Amino acid sequence: MSDIASSLAQVQDHLAAAAARAGRQPDEIVLVAISKTHPPERIAEAVSAGQLLFGESKVREARVKIPQLPGQTRWHGIGHLQKNKIRHALPLFELIHSVDSLELAREINRIATDLGAQPRVLLEVNVSGEGSKYGFSPEALESSVDELLQLSRLQIEGLMTIPPLAPEAESSRRHFARLRDLRDRLQNDFGIGLPELSMGMSNDYPIAVEEGATLVRVGSAIFGGR
Ligand SMILES: *Cc1c(COP(=O)(O)O)cnc(C)c1O
Repeated sequence: MSDIASSLAQVQDHLAAAAARAGRQPDEIVLVAISKTHPPERIAEAVSAGQLLFGESKVREARVKIPQLPGQTRWHGIGHLQKNKIRHALPLFELIHSVDSLELAREINRIATDLGAQPRVLLEVNVSGEGSKYGFSPEALESSVDELLQLSRLQIEGLMTIPPLAPEAESSRRHFARLRDLRDRLQNDFGIGLPELSMGMSNDYPIAVEEGATLVRVGSAIFGGR
């Protein structure tokens, strides 16, 4: 077995164990293998081991790599999206996790109208209030929902967060719980469905699963360090 195949198997085992602890079915959680900075040959090893869904952070890098990988691979965009990259990003990614402002949402909606696209997106929330982070504050998100729902091209499927870096994985738990609570509140207050919660990275994905993640974004635990 390649190193990537055995890392993937280990991540799948940890996901299943976390799901079991939370009384969830393993198939409620989708593993997005974050392949940023890794070359197509390494990603192809993951494909050989059965992983078909990948996440990339930069549009420019994704545009070069994706055509070098088999057509059955699927790709998500996870990084901050610059407005001048939207036109390239929409055809590449089947889900964009990182819609981090109302302005960006409006611009994606405008370009999607041009392209005849109906992009699936998640709204990125800065739940910790950390100054350096992209994302809606919970308050800004609540006051933006009415306008977001008017952006008729966007299929808004849920929320995403990146908690602050911390030495202890357990520190992420309250941030994940806050994202879930915010999602529950928005669903109630606006009568909308936001089924997806994208949360959990290599250091804390089992905790994210315990707190309700439906998409985990795992890079270095699969591909090694960057
Ligand atoms: C790089 C990245 C990840 C993966 O991080 P790892 O710690 O390598 O698992 C997940 N989400 C986002 C938004 C990233 O930029």
